[in-house]
Amino acid sequence: MALIVQKFGGTSVGTVERIEQVAEKVKKFREGGDDIVVVVSAMSGETNRLIDLAKQISDKPVPRELDVMVSTGEQVTIALLSMALIKRGVPAVSYTGNQVRILTDSAHNKARILQIDDQKIRSDLKAGRVVVVAGFQGVDEHGNITTLGRGGSDTTGVALAAALKADECQIYTDVDGVYTTDPRVVPQAQRLDKITFEEMLEMASLGSKVLQIRSVEFAGKYNVPLRVLHSFQEGPGTLITLDEEESMEQPIISGIAFNRDEAKLTIRGVPDTPGVAFKILGPISAANIEVDMIVQNVAHDNTTDFTFTVHRNDYQNALQVLEQTAREIGAREVSGDTKIAKVSIVGVGMRSHAGVASRMFEALAKESINIQMISTSEIKVSVVIEEKYLELAVRALHTAFELDAPARQGE
Ligand code: ADP
Ligand code: ASP
Ligand code: MG
Repeated sequence: MALIVQKFGGTSVGTVERIEQVAEKVKKFREGGDDIVVVVSAMSGETNRLIDLAKQISDKPVPRELDVMVSTGEQVTIALLSMALIKRGVPAVSYTGNQVRILTDSAHNKARILQIDDQKIRSDLKAGRVVVVAGFQGVDEHGNITTLGRGGSDTTGVALAAALKADECQIYTDVDGVYTTDPRVVPQAQRLDKITFEEMLEMASLGSKVLQIRSVEFAGKYNVPLRVLHSFQEGPGTLITLDEEESMEQPIISGIAFNRDEAKLTIRGVPDTPGVAFKILGPISAANIEVDMIVQNVAHDNTTDFTFTVHRNDYQNALQVLEQTAREIGAREVSGDTKIAKVSIVGVGMRSHAGVASRMFEALAKESINIQMISTSEIKVSVVIEEKYLELAVRALHTAFELDAPARQGE
């Protein structure tokens, strides 16, 4: 008998009918003899609706109160799913994060799970009940409700699986696995049978929102067998695996990730003296703004240009800080651009193949797409381009790296 944690995302519980369908599915699993813990998200659109309400009161809602409110979305779906299970003769009980005791730190809106008390869940499972837990939420040591950041129910699922030493954590969603890129953007994208944790972590952190980054971190750290599956279609889904050898095909590139969440800032005519990067980025980091990509140009006439990217939400703040810095260090001008996008190719196969970056640049050049910034690591290459070329770039790269479905069918 196995212990399985199953997480169902927003669209999978988006209507009462779907919740009934999820209950049917859970019932079938139960009849197979497995112990089941279910984690659910709020109904699709509900978290956004709640955030919008708060924004009608204030542009920057008080984080603690925002958590009290947005956590209610999941409280509705746990109760509905439990009712649907009980109606089908399946004993079930629902718990909020606070009731299980999913202990987090106090970083409201982006809290981290510190500890999970598994006692209540274990005794319910022992008594033959399906346990339905609210995703996305926890409680801090002072009893304040916290939430884990957008997409956080994935992390609840994986963290529960780790705490309970579950045999598998199954993430049920509206696609039948992890694809070579977002199938909504590239219809030729293909489902991967397997992907390594390392690659999945890069994909998630570079913009593939199919799994929340922290859920992948957790799964890697605690070695939780993790699988992404379609909620209502049969199929093997995608297994996230520790073992590089196991990821069968070993293509050079496993996937293409992209995001539109960043903005670019440039400071020009900076005196080229030691410590200048620190003078520019020190105040940015002091303002709690995270910097992603950085480029410093070769000095010319003893001055240089310095460009970096930040999250779009931080753009206005970063611009203000940078303008202040420019005055202090005597830089010529500051400019910014929010209409950029980052496209990344990811794959452990890159380690053993030279020329991957140039193949990427060639594909973009063929489409006359200008590259504004580049950053690389052992298993990824990212470029910043103009946002309007994003979809074209992703499709061109998907083809250039032979990831398109028809090309692969004959292999
Ligand atoms: P849920 O509500 O179930 O958590 P999400 O919307 O968070 O679902 O995640 C599923 C979505 O992730 C898919 O509908 C798909 O558009 C998107 N996505 C982005 N990149 C990928 C990828 N590489 N593979 C699969 N889906 C992806
Ligand atoms: N409901 C939350 C969100 O929309 C958490 C989740 O669905 O994973 O972000
Ligand atoms: Mg999600």
